[in-house]
Amino acid sequence: MADHDYGYTTWGKDWVRFAESLRQTRPDPRLPSARRLARDGKVQITFDGRTVRAAVHRGRGISTVTIEVAPMSAGATGEISRQLSGIQPLLTDDLYRAIADAGHPLAPVLDSVGCSCPAATPRCVHELAVYYDMARRIDDDPRIALDVQGFFLASAGGGEAPAEATARRWIALNSLDPAAYFTVAE
Ligand SMILES: [Zn+2]
Repeated sequence: MADHDYGYTTWGKDWVRFAESLRQTRPDPRLPSARRLARDGKVQITFDGRTVRAAVHRGRGISTVTIEVAPMSAGATGEISRQLSGIQPLLTDDLYRAIADAGHPLAPVLDSVGCSCPAATPRCVHELAVYYDMARRIDDDPRIALDVQGFFLASAGGGEAPAEATARRWIALNSLDPAAYFTVAE
């Protein structure tokens, strides 16, 4: 069942979907544990460009999860920049849908996921916990969803966007009022 603590923005929901695949027919019994780890502050994430590193504390052990996120498509980067050039650029659910409707899906793609624990299963509880913690963080600040897909790197160093547009983009995103980042549907 949906857990409304995580992914209540469309931006955050993408990360919940890594843990709760729509193709999954049976509920994964590890998901409640993973949610609890994220909720209890057992997941400590650091970002390095498009690399997400997390120390997940469980019991007496610490596991290290490393996730490489694929860069956002040039089309999506351009569409976001275009949409954010308005008077009141907000990373709302509506904006997310508008960009997706323009043919640029924003759901992140993971290049690789790994954990230091010895679990032999394809997805361990630590990785699931990181997906939830990412969803929680992105719900609070959707800029992370862009950042982790290299949106800012592409605009700052790629030479694809004129410097002026890049500067404007930074200002627009950094001047967002945290209270108005997103709208909550229903
Ligand atoms: Zn693990």
